Amino acid sequence: MKLMEYQGKDLFRRVGIPTPRGVYATTADEVRTYVAEHPGSWVLKSQVMMGGRGKAGGIKFADDAQQGETLARELIGKVLKSVQNPDGEEVKSLLVEEKVDIASEAYVSIAIDRAAKKPVVLVTAQGGMDVEEVAEHDPDAIKKYWIDPAEGYSPYIGRQLAFDAKLPEGYRKAFPAVLGALYELFMDYGANLVEINPLVLTNDGRVIASDAKVELDDNGLYKHPDVAQWNKQSPADADQAAAVAIGLGMSNYARFEDEPGLPPKTVGTIANGAGLGMGTMDAVKNAGGGAANFLDIGGGAQAELVKNSYKLVTSDDRVKAMFINIFGGITRGDQVAKGIVEALSGDDVRKVPLVVRLTGTNAKEGLAILAEAGFVPVETMDEGAARAVELAKGAQ
Ligand code: GDP
Ligand code: MN
Repeated sequence: MKLMEYQGKDLFRRVGIPTPRGVYATTADEVRTYVAEHPGSWVLKSQVMMGGRGKAGGIKFADDAQQGETLARELIGKVLKSVQNPDGEEVKSLLVEEKVDIASEAYVSIAIDRAAKKPVVLVTAQGGMDVEEVAEHDPDAIKKYWIDPAEGYSPYIGRQLAFDAKLPEGYRKAFPAVLGALYELFMDYGANLVEINPLVLTNDGRVIASDAKVELDDNGLYKHPDVAQWNKQSPADADQAAAVAIGLGMSNYARFEDEPGLPPKTVGTIANGAGLGMGTMDAVKNAGGGAANFLDIGGGAQAELVKNSYKLVTSDDRVKAMFINIFGGITRGDQVAKGIVEALSGDDVRKVPLVVRLTGTNAKEGLAILAEAGFVPVETMDEGAARAVELAKGAQ
């Protein structure tokens, strides 16, 4: 789960990393009221998942309430685009923060180094720009440290990194504690990535996290149920909202646009497990078709969820045929079959030709339910994909 800046900063504050004071706002009126009550200079920061907001025009400075309102009206509803994100992302909310006077911008992050099986810390004095850019032009300016999780973090690691990365003097006292807190967050919240870019040194000597990028491992979310709820309240896009609305995780459903030169994406897919879901899409592609979507019903899905997943996928009218590919483990074949039959017996669902492959736990029971409802299941994934592609073509 990727967090927006304001959410990442919420976690920063929990572990004691200093952030600028401010407020989260979804309307221009809120911005005007806040700035009117707190005279000074403020930064309006578009809350989007994409990085590079500064360059994309998503960050504005306001010196009074009127200007704050005007700029907020400009930003909210605007679609920000960047090289990495050419389709753009709509701004739905803002973070209004105290504008700080920047003396220096540093970069610090912690990520998982899978090869080393350890968290790796990256620090450079050249913050404020993409770290990839620094890596390209001045790789020696990036200092790394692999933290042994058994030993944990000690302040000397931060002191050494600040020194090696040549962070300006003003950072030296605060940096070890900031990095320690960032490591605590990383471990306690089960993050894949925590990044502060820039970690600002202000003219009056404060060290503040001016930006926050946090990616949490979904498998660790159970430890912090409040955080797990966050993006359910504000799904980043319609597919995520639709997934969450039926009880799936927000990254369990995604649609894919047609691409020039490739077959139209007309085959709906449902699988259990992200790996099998992607494999199913590949199989459709190999069979000469195009998967319109990815949908992972997860482990242990009940009939109700299968039914709602079917409805969700077929609500996309590009979908001309459906391929459901289930490898039963925790997911039981009979529950899947029941869900399919229920979905197809309702009037509130758009029905398309259906191919089902069902193996593993309770497959026999599931196949019996499907047979009774008149389905002929397929044996293998490739066979299923080929059949679904054929049916989709026939239905066009
Ligand atoms: P990003 O472009 O999405 O990474 O957004 P950031 O939050 O990192 O902001 C981008 C840039 O805007 C920073 O590197 C700063 O140069 C500038 N900026 C952001 N907040 C402030 C602020 O409070 N004061 C000043 N002077 N500049 C800021
Ligand atoms: Mn940034």
